[in-house]
Amino acid sequence: MRQRVRSVKETPLSAAPPVAYNDKVSEPAEIPVDELRRLLSGDAPPLLIDVREAFERTRAALEPSLHVPLGSLAVDIVRVAPDRARDVVVYCSRGQRSSRACDELRRLGYTRVKSLQGGLEAWNRATDPAFSDPHDQAFLPRYARQVALAEVGPEGQRKLANSRVLIVGAGGLGSPSAYYLTAAGVGKLGLVDFDVVDESNLHRQILYRTSDVGLPKVKVAQRELSALNPHVQVIPYQERLTSENAERIVREYDLVLDGADNFAARYLVNDACVMLGKPNVHGSIHQFEGQVSVFCRPDGPCYRCLYPEPPPAGWVPSCAEAGVLGFLPGLIGTMQAAEAVKLILGRGESLSGRLLRLDALSMTFETFEVFRRSDCAYCGEGAAFPGLVDYAEHCGPS
Ligand SMILES: [Zn+2]
Repeated sequence: MRQRVRSVKETPLSAAPPVAYNDKVSEPAEIPVDELRRLLSGDAPPLLIDVREAFERTRAALEPSLHVPLGSLAVDIVRVAPDRARDVVVYCSRGQRSSRACDELRRLGYTRVKSLQGGLEAWNRATDPAFSDPHDQAFLPRYARQVALAEVGPEGQRKLANSRVLIVGAGGLGSPSAYYLTAAGVGKLGLVDFDVVDESNLHRQILYRTSDVGLPKVKVAQRELSALNPHVQVIPYQERLTSENAERIVREYDLVLDGADNFAARYLVNDACVMLGKPNVHGSIHQFEGQVSVFCRPDGPCYRCLYPEPPPAGWVPSCAEAGVLGFLPGLIGTMQAAEAVKLILGRGESLSGRLLRLDALSMTFETFEVFRRSDCAYCGEGAAFPGLVDYAEHCGPS
């Protein structure tokens, strides 16, 4: 039987990359932060090369350093650092890309090149007191992926850690939004829901398990969310939102996420937000349709600008009659969490003044402009606040 043997062509010496003999090759390829600091303050500091991408460099960089992204290193390095015998230290965020860059530079004939051990993160931990503060959540590994975003960064993570979000309704909308806000590291998360877990909730209210049937939703939610992120203070309110308690509860928070499944709570959330000047991150669903908006922002409309009064009881089908698949509140609740995070960070463009409508059957999104009404009884110009109202509770779409 003939064996198949791969032929190996020898590379002609003249075509080989210009590898110089490196008599320092036994030196460690990495340099610790302390050693680099010592060298940088000495008479002959090494050349620093940042191999991260440009967007990473805009946030923070060691100075002075040259910027040669890893992808273009082989092409650009000779232009920016022609002396291959010079001491060079390459760095990235955590030391992985710079380690590869180090190998590449040695292959190209650079004889005295090292990678910063642990990268810029290690440098920051060693040199910036804020990074070593155990109470500064911005530098916990759990938030590393979002802190890496320029729109978040350590400052944004601190904003999240100092934020207070109230979710009214710990059901289909409240479940995903509570999970994502907790995972993102908001400081305080209030949950208002008087109900207990019912088996018919389980196909969409992902906070709850089969063994939780019959238990108070907010207590189970507190257990689950605290297990997910113990840095978040979860406050359960096992009560129905009413005109009696709405002001007391809403006042404690920076913004309210409306995950209510009934008009009584939805109008109370809006009116309390108008009264107290809190943003109202609205979400609602009906069969295969969902909508999201942000109300009660300065110059933006409130929910009553769109729907001045609730429909009479009986005009809309109840939750049980209308039916719903679990993914729809999952999508809408997640979008509400996104709007809440953007408001906290002060980033992006919120849905204030716009109503986003999703038709999940055709999977189409439409956006409608919503204007603040000057004659709105609640937020209109010069309107005297009419007070909080307890409507008869009935379920239905907005
Ligand atoms: Zn209004």
